[in-house]
Amino acid sequence: MHAADEIDAPPALKAKLRKLGFSRSDDLVLHLPIRYEDETTLTKIADARPGAPLLFEVQVLEVSIQFRPRRQLVVRAADSSGEVVLRFLNFYASQTRQFEEARDREKKLRVFGELRVGYFGPEIVHPRYRSVGENEALSRALTPIYPTTAGVSQAALRRLIARALKDADLSEYLDAAVLPKQLPAYADALRLLHAPPPDADETALQTRSHPAWRRVKFDELLAQQLSLRRAYLARRQKGAPALVSDGALAKRLLASLPFTLTAAQARVAAEIRVDLAQTFPMQRLLQGDVGSGKTIVAALAICQAVEVGYQAAFMAPTEILAAQNFLKLKAWFEPLGVKVVWLAGSQKKSEKEASRKQAAGDAQLVVGTHALIREEVDFSRLGLAIIDEQHRFGVAQRLELRKKGERSAKGTNAKDVTKDATPPHQLMMSATPIPRTLSMTYYADLDVSVLDELPPGRRPIVTKLVSDGRRGEVVERVRTAVSDGKQAYWVCPLIEESEKLQLQTALDTYATLSEEFDGLRVGLVHGRQKGDEKDAAMRAFSAGEIDVLVATTVIEVGVDVPNACLMIIEHAERFGLAQLHQLRGRVGRGTRDSVCVLLYQSPLSTAARERLKVIFENSDGFVIAREDLRLRGPGEFIGNRQSGVPMLRYANLETDAELVESARVTAEKMLHESPDRVEHHLKRWMGSREEMLLA
Ligand code: ADP
Ligand code: MG
Repeated sequence: MHAADEIDAPPALKAKLRKLGFSRSDDLVLHLPIRYEDETTLTKIADARPGAPLLFEVQVLEVSIQFRPRRQLVVRAADSSGEVVLRFLNFYASQTRQFEEARDREKKLRVFGELRVGYFGPEIVHPRYRSVGENEALSRALTPIYPTTAGVSQAALRRLIARALKDADLSEYLDAAVLPKQLPAYADALRLLHAPPPDADETALQTRSHPAWRRVKFDELLAQQLSLRRAYLARRQKGAPALVSDGALAKRLLASLPFTLTAAQARVAAEIRVDLAQTFPMQRLLQGDVGSGKTIVAALAICQAVEVGYQAAFMAPTEILAAQNFLKLKAWFEPLGVKVVWLAGSQKKSEKEASRKQAAGDAQLVVGTHALIREEVDFSRLGLAIIDEQHRFGVAQRLELRKKGERSAKGTNAKDVTKDATPPHQLMMSATPIPRTLSMTYYADLDVSVLDELPPGRRPIVTKLVSDGRRGEVVERVRTAVSDGKQAYWVCPLIEESEKLQLQTALDTYATLSEEFDGLRVGLVHGRQKGDEKDAAMRAFSAGEIDVLVATTVIEVGVDVPNACLMIIEHAERFGLAQLHQLRGRVGRGTRDSVCVLLYQSPLSTAARERLKVIFENSDGFVIAREDLRLRGPGEFIGNRQSGVPMLRYANLETDAELVESARVTAEKMLHESPDRVEHHLKRWMGSREEMLLA
């Protein structure tokens, strides 16, 4: 006997199945066909039309191996209406014997394949076939074809799945009331998908728009929502220091700024303020387009922590970015008497040691790369962790940030913190706007704030598309701009395949431009420079000591030099949409008119042409992101592993958008009303894979 959810198979096969990810009957019944073949009716050879595979029943007349044009097995066969040749270019000796036996014993064969009329008459290449007894019944359901799984044949899979359909628990966990209208019961949906009756809507099955498919997709999306929301609620159960302040420090900071907050900034700052005063950790994502002014919002949150005696950590994905933020935050905070400390991987050992001591001591704000976390910094009273440009951190790093954020707080020696791990409040910031459906699945475990307004006074950036043949004119244009006192970025072609080539390209571009811009001050910044070299270049550019900065995509995020109002991107056709948008966002930060020139090499591929058209026509990050999603699909859009999309085997975030919304609503309801069903549903869908999804 086997347990209900266990696969009923011999141990060796079971082990093989487990390797393929099938450890339970549930896993098998949720392995759904990629398509179907219709073996429910027989066609006469004379009636067959090419275009689709059909089922024939034939008698073998002659079996031969021919050698022209190459070795092949040729079987002549016939039904009452005519003859057909079955041709096998790859075959085993055993197959030859099978056909010979069928010929000798006058056994009938059912042959499935697409019939074509060739030079020698009707033929089928590599048909599927099997011998059948007299008057053997035809299949009453469409034949499922499953995604291939190494080492287990279609026939074996079909048997295993048919068995699992009997064994698995197919009971209904969802009330009709929570299901979107017209979706069938779970058991009915699965039975239909594994063995559709011949009158089922075959097109709807193939395109996966059939109600049975929609039920499966809904359930899958629901599992994803439940899992994410549950993680969210679990984190809410943990304690965190309630940062309740009267806002005096924030007021002083605001008073010192040369600008006032936009309405969007004020709204988001208020949302964060409320979160920070709670006794459970904030988990908020602040999305705001490039230049929307996220830093000041973060700074206001820092005020709230600092004012009540807690520390804040500010982390950025690259050293350039971290350094820029450090300078900005220091300039804001030091006049207010707040102690700001720098900590980065590239620091000398002694400096790092000193910074670490301060973090463990009286530092109030520590700014750095994620070395901040990797270096096992022991904060004395960490109350708030801010992660800038969080989309640039990989999944693994993000998990690490989350986990270590919790651990570093555990190591805290503050007296008033409970014994349990108390994670700090977390504010993540991202300039990658994510379309709503994607954000609902991707970020369902976070609260999301959006800065949907740019600070006033920004001049729109004019984007120009210029073919590489007119590069000379562009060089002239840069010269003119520099003589007007402006500065320019020159972005090198992107070489994704090799860091070494990328470096070489950067050096070559620098050499060429240094010659072309004879008399101008040309600088270089790239990813392989040491931290201090990079800093020196950026600082010189910031200070106006460099006219043209040759750069790789290291300047893609966050860099802020208001006087730089011209950007040239070479081989713009090689960049992705998000990259182009981010790069372009480096200009247009001051009050002068800005221009971004996209130099491209013709001829353009269709995909590249579409991308450049989108970036040329749009400046709103959300619109660009939506187009990007449309052109690439969600997997590529945020990186397959990153998106949790691999967990979605069946649902498509774009085409099934309305199911995403109902799954979200249903998840919320279930979590409140029927926690035991939540368990059942997650177990059914996730098995042991939940951790992966949450990365
Ligand atoms: P991002 O959201 O890309 O991180 P930043 O925080 O770097 O944007 O802000 C971009 C620029 O806009 C900075 O120079 C910043 O000082 C300025 N800024 C921020 N908020 C405002 C505002 N409300 N009014 C005017 N300028 C602002
Ligand atoms: Mg920023």
